[in-house]
Amino acid sequence: ELPPINADFYGMEYKLSAEDQALLLRIRTFLETEIKPLVNNYWLHDEFPFEIIPKLAALNICGYTYEGYGCAGGKSLMDGIIAAEFGRIDPSIATFLGVQSGLAMGSIYTCGSEEQKDEWLPQMQQFKKIGAFGLTEPEVGSGAAGGLTTTCRQTAEGWVLNGQKKWIGNATFSDITIIWARDLADGEVKGFIVRKENPGFHVEKIKGKMALRIVQNGLITLTDCVVPEHDRLPHANSFKDTAKVLQMTRAGVAWMAVGCARGAYENALEYTLKRKQFGKPIASFQLIQNHLVEMLSNLTSMQTLVFRLSELQDEDKLRDEHASLAKVFCTLRTRDIVSRAREVMGGNGILLEYNVARFLADAEAIYSYEGTKEINSLIVGRSITGFSAFV
Ligand code: FAD
Repeated sequence: ELPPINADFYGMEYKLSAEDQALLLRIRTFLETEIKPLVNNYWLHDEFPFEIIPKLAALNICGYTYEGYGCAGGKSLMDGIIAAEFGRIDPSIATFLGVQSGLAMGSIYTCGSEEQKDEWLPQMQQFKKIGAFGLTEPEVGSGAAGGLTTTCRQTAEGWVLNGQKKWIGNATFSDITIIWARDLADGEVKGFIVRKENPGFHVEKIKGKMALRIVQNGLITLTDCVVPEHDRLPHANSFKDTAKVLQMTRAGVAWMAVGCARGAYENALEYTLKRKQFGKPIASFQLIQNHLVEMLSNLTSMQTLVFRLSELQDEDKLRDEHASLAKVFCTLRTRDIVSRAREVMGGNGILLEYNVARFLADAEAIYSYEGTKEINSLIVGRSITGFSAFV
């Protein structure tokens, strides 16, 4: 009989209401029975499992914190726990959900008109329409705030968009992509709902990724792509509005990293309890226990940090620097945890079937997207010193 693996070491989940604990259990069971058996194969083949979409819709968790439009109007804390639970089983599927629920729906919820919200949010909540979020460009990543080169220009026919967007998650099959472009008239960043059938909108799949391989990332080319005024997000009038969406989604990425780290830790612990060398389980060796305790210490500190982060969100006190600090800390610690998880598994640690190699690779992408360590550190650094050190 093996000891129980409880990666919620300080019992944070017991702080949830009975109703939320029941929801967590439902999601955990779904992910373990319906998603876990699929992911290694899809990851290996760099493909997305479209058959899971109706099942995700049935969970009724997309756009979890939004009020109205078919959304649950739930707490950020539970939304974070859901993101971690997805990350614990597969960071790619967690990212798919993060793009749909956070980046795409969040842009419309935060910056859209009532008509746009009515048109898109209920359908997206049920995954009847899929969304993407196009900010990054081939030559502009970290410097998006001041450096976007994709342009928009208002004409009698509508807005004309030109430029390219790189790395755009879900874009190969999304119905709409939120495109962020600089207005040639006033120089400000504006947001647009661009439909896949818009003439001048072209997507190419990015191939050869070594992380988050289930997520389908696209390179979008906009060539005189005409978008009607009614598809412009009326409350997106500068990069500050884009940043409001990113603040929320960065908190989600911190949670997702907690899940990724937890998944790797749990699988590694289980392995060390079963694997024998020198006639004993490797978990009985001091040096292996040291790795396990380092992993658990980091994981527990991440869990307590994101709990408070979401409380701040629910108290409406979340600032950019709070989200950035959590994003940096959690993704950095996750990198350490997944690397130790692989190490204690020896050679089997690099085989997909042992369920740690995927986390090891995926942690690299989570570490870099939604603002790298450097960019999020600079956001925190600016807040605590008063000096902006970006340029
Ligand atoms: P760069 O900006 O070129 O940075 C390279 C290095 O330079 C980094 O280490 C960076 O920290 C460092 N650096 C840059 N500026 C500074 C500075 N001032 N001081 C110190 N160091 C600095 N984007 C979207 O818009 N939508 C998506 O759906 C999306 N999904 C993604 C999915 C994946 C798997 C990946 C990998 C990326 C995704 N991205 C997406 C893009 C992602 O947000 C960018 O990769 C990220 O912001 C970093 O930009 P970059 O890759 O161009 O790196």
